[in-house]
Amino acid sequence: MELDPWGAGEVKNYDHVFKKFGLNPIPASISKSLKFRLFERGIVIAHRDFDKVYARIKAKKPFINMTGIASSGPLHFGHKVDLDLFIFFKKCGAKNYFSVSDIDAYVSRPDKKIPSLETAKKWGIENLAHALALGLNEKDVFVQSQKESRYYEFTFELSKKITKKTFEAIYGHLDLGKVSANLLQYADIMHPQLPEYEGPMPSVTGIGLEQDPHARATRDIAKRLPYGIVTPGFIYFQHQSGLKLGTKMSASHPETAIFLDDAPEAAAKKVSRAFTGGRPTVEEQRKLGGRPEICKVHELLKFHYPNTKRWEKLVKDCKDGKWLCGECKQFTGKFVSDFLKDHQKKVKTKLKIAEKIVLGK
Ligand code: SF4
Repeated sequence: MELDPWGAGEVKNYDHVFKKFGLNPIPASISKSLKFRLFERGIVIAHRDFDKVYARIKAKKPFINMTGIASSGPLHFGHKVDLDLFIFFKKCGAKNYFSVSDIDAYVSRPDKKIPSLETAKKWGIENLAHALALGLNEKDVFVQSQKESRYYEFTFELSKKITKKTFEAIYGHLDLGKVSANLLQYADIMHPQLPEYEGPMPSVTGIGLEQDPHARATRDIAKRLPYGIVTPGFIYFQHQSGLKLGTKMSASHPETAIFLDDAPEAAAKKVSRAFTGGRPTVEEQRKLGGRPEICKVHELLKFHYPNTKRWEKLVKDCKDGKWLCGECKQFTGKFVSDFLKDHQKKVKTKLKIAEKIVLGK
């Protein structure tokens, strides 16, 4: 199987992907000790060199925490996972670099989606307001189109460290817009280790499995640079799937995704129509129990419900047939709509500051 960074497919066989691309599963001891739901519940599943970052966390030493938003469309609950991870690592003592990737979004997306840099900036402002409302600190944000000259020197320098052949071997094709976007992404991840910023130290970037080609290319380039850069580390999280069977949560399937700007009642309605692991009749469900492992309502709780004890109890009650799909959908719909009401109030207060940051005014 191939991994396509720009695709929207759902990964079905994780073990196969781990083996093929040489990823390491996250050890249970690390997942347990970090005490964060995305680790505890097995959503962060694999890594490259995360052990170096983990050692820094344990030793209370700084490390680099880097991620970004694509600025190419509305954010949904799947994107929230990445933001929640970034905010978690900040609390672990990281040096934080959060990219608003406006140039990347424009050059790598087709014109019918992002027709101008202004459109990418518009999405950048909106996405950033959501990220700030989720707890991102504005001091940790940088915007590609507002970066200083050293960042751009470095971005162009990277073009000498990857050949056409390597690029084609990793990505399977060569498209000039995507080449430019990739150079920016490599720079986003590695520039914090330049002497003008933090200097060399372990770093972590959270990505979905289909982004692994970028991770491999970044790590390969890091080894060819003259700055003593510590090979960047990555953790891989499972993508939240859509509310129907067979898709990952994606803006291309709006009816199966819950967006952070969905009206709260409309989001609860989407939950009520989601695919469940329930049985055909109440009697059967009482007798055999539900199947949370295939249930999209359960997946929403697994990825986002903050109270792990309560979540574990709900899963057990579902499996024991004590908790039925009707009440579960109502509970989850209320959780989602309450979250959105509160979140959207905060977003309104962050729009002005997001605009100031993205436009550099
Ligand atoms: Fe899914 Fe909830 Fe039904 Fe269990 S009770 S199958 S978690 S909707």
